Amino acid sequence: MKYDPRKCGALCTQCPLQGSPVVPPEGPPDSPWVFVGEAPGPSEIKFGRPFIGPSGVKLEEMLEKHGWKRKQVYITNAVLCRPEVPITVMSGAQRFNSKNYMQWLHAENKVQKKLGRPQLRSPFECCAPRLLNELEQHEEAALAAGYPNGAVVQPLGNFAAMTILDWKSPTGIMKIRGSVYGLQLRDEEPSE
Ligand code: SF4
Repeated sequence: MKYDPRKCGALCTQCPLQGSPVVPPEGPPDSPWVFVGEAPGPSEIKFGRPFIGPSGVKLEEMLEKHGWKRKQVYITNAVLCRPEVPITVMSGAQRFNSKNYMQWLHAENKVQKKLGRPQLRSPFECCAPRLLNELEQHEEAALAAGYPNGAVVQPLGNFAAMTILDWKSPTGIMKIRGSVYGLQLRDEEPSE
């Protein structure tokens, strides 16, 4: 059955990336390890699978070092479509950089506001309900499968961390590296 992000809570009809190819999550739904990347890259879009480009190779190497295989972990992204700055604004690979996309969106919304038009929503905001639902379901499945701590969710990069933590981490992932949050994550302070 074809994966439909809207069934998991994604607000696709309000998202500026609506209509773009969707790269669904992958992996056992009750794995104790969940990795959340930022957005699909070109290889991921081409093959419709998350983390299969250079970042996927690094992830697999890291997993192997710790005795895990890719097929044992759950992999998803903060947004399931690829943010893309319009070619009329920017060219080259920089168009697909999420930070550049958000800066473009901000500038575009200033223009929309001046023209009295509705603001464009952030794709990260539109996809967040889907991600958080997925994480909650995953936590329950991991507990039911006998993992006493449930699922351990690891954001890979700023946008993943900020989406999971409801944008409470504007200072960047390096500042929260090593911190542990409970899965009622949005309302909690980190423990040591
Ligand atoms: S990024 Fe998420 S919310 Fe936006 S269209 Fe893709 S799946 Fe839907």
